Parts: sequence; C-alpha cells; structure tokens
Amino acid sequence: MTCIDMEFFGHIWTGELAGAIWQKSRKHLASCGDCRARFEKLAAARVQTEEVLGMLAPADNVAINPAMAYGPIYESICSRS
Ligand SMILES: [Zn+2]
Repeated sequence: MTCIDMEFFGHIWTGELAGAIWQKSRKHLASCGDCRARFEKLAAARVQTEEVLGMLAPADNVAINPAMAYGPIYESICSRS
C-alpha cells in the first residue's frame, strides 16, 4: 500500500472506511513510521482543536448577559482614552 494521504486520514477518523480498506490502512500505519508520525501529529492537533472549541461552547443552563459580557471590553476601551 502506498502512503496514506491527508484526506484519507479524515476518512479513518470519521469511520467511513470499511472492511478490507480499513484493515489495509491499519496495517500500513503499523508498518510505516512516516504515516504513523503524521497520523499522531494530526490526532494531537485534533484533540487541541476540540479542547479550544469546547471552551467556546457556553455552559449548560447559563444565560449569557450581554451587558456583563461587554462590561470588561467597555472598561478596557474607556481606560485607553
Ligand atoms: Zn506510509
């Protein structure tokens, strides 16, 4: 099997690969250091991205008060003038 391209890694993560193709990909990852290194690097980047996105999501049952959210920004702007 030739080395795995970036688009193919996405299919591995999303579970879109089935049967023989999945087995070939796993076998290739086990035997190819370059692909394994790229896969691990992308996996780490994916975890970091999910952590950042998790921080952006509002907490459950917490109402966002625009006045409170804008307050620190307003104070920062006013302190500059
Ligand atoms: Zn490879």
